[in-house]
Amino acid sequence: MRAPTPKALIRPLVEHLHGYVPGEQPKIKGLIKLNTNENPYPPSPKVLRAVKAAVDGRLRLYPNPTAENVRVVLAKLHRCSPDNIIVGNGSDELLALAIKCFVEPTGSKTRRSVAEVVQYFTPSYSLYPVLADIHGAKTNPVPLAGDFSIPDKKPKTWRSDAALTLITTPNAPSGRGYTTTDLDNLCRTIRGIVVLDEAYVDFAKENALRLALKYPHVIVSRTFSKAYSLCFQRVGYFVAHRQLIDALHKIRDSYNVNGLGQIAALETLSDLPYYRANFKKVIATRKRLSAELTKLGFSVLPSETNFIFARPPKFPAEQWLAKLRQKKVLVRWFRYPETKDFLRITIGTDAEANALLRAVKQLC
Ligand SMILES: *Cc1c(COP(=O)(O)O)cnc(C)c1O
Repeated sequence: MRAPTPKALIRPLVEHLHGYVPGEQPKIKGLIKLNTNENPYPPSPKVLRAVKAAVDGRLRLYPNPTAENVRVVLAKLHRCSPDNIIVGNGSDELLALAIKCFVEPTGSKTRRSVAEVVQYFTPSYSLYPVLADIHGAKTNPVPLAGDFSIPDKKPKTWRSDAALTLITTPNAPSGRGYTTTDLDNLCRTIRGIVVLDEAYVDFAKENALRLALKYPHVIVSRTFSKAYSLCFQRVGYFVAHRQLIDALHKIRDSYNVNGLGQIAALETLSDLPYYRANFKKVIATRKRLSAELTKLGFSVLPSETNFIFARPPKFPAEQWLAKLRQKKVLVRWFRYPETKDFLRITIGTDAEANALLRAVKQLC
């Protein structure tokens, strides 16, 4: 018998998949890295101490399977029960689990009262369609209004019966914030599950956490990555009705959150004033950078996140990306029709903002 080719052994779905393309993590000396919305400030000294102190013989043991300590503290913070919370290996893991848990793959014979689609606005987090494709689920991308607001009158393609609707709020990559009233109204028109992905909410005016405790079909997604300077540790969580959380627990890996991540998250929650001071710094830099870039001819959209979305003057955004890179400033550019005229710029420290402004002035 002839040995099969490896390719013939891979599922066609996987063979044809376009994986997610994360922002670059290059190792260029002196690079100003403003491309992946990481927090420019380090985790609290308490977090660093606790993680270092935990690196000993304990590493041979399995961590708590449900990140119980973290759930208990989060429950107090959000005035709910630990049963309303599931912790994940980053919120990306939980988003993938939500698709697995609530949406049938295409071709399934199961009959349900919801439409088997993963629905999301465009532009929003570009991981959503990738996760749907991995699961073999149908997607329903629906355009936001021209100013990136949620359209008042839903386009004809909008499905209020979608099995799962994912909403990035505040929106990425535009940085636009949505009011809780608008989100509440939207949730009330949807019959399937709604995930409000609040990855950037600590930099916003409002959050919609209460909707997850008010409605049985609404999930709020949060992460320690962006606002809490913890991308490296991979910790995120969902808040939702207990029955939804129980279902998600059934399909996650038994030890999905690593032990050092649990320790880091727990210590983070014990030092929130440190982080709140950082949010203020980021917001102040955001305001100053927006004003300075506006003076230089950029059209900067109002932002409620730790990045800005700005249309540069003079030459196309894609060229700005390359020219800034030559000057060792890395920003993000997305090739889609509705985003191709803009640069997404992460808010760094004041020194990093100044370096960006110097580079921009040399190019203008
Ligand atoms: C960064 C990001 C996430 C993922 O965060 P992790 O917890 O690091 O997986 C989720 N949603 C949006 C919109 C993000 O920008």
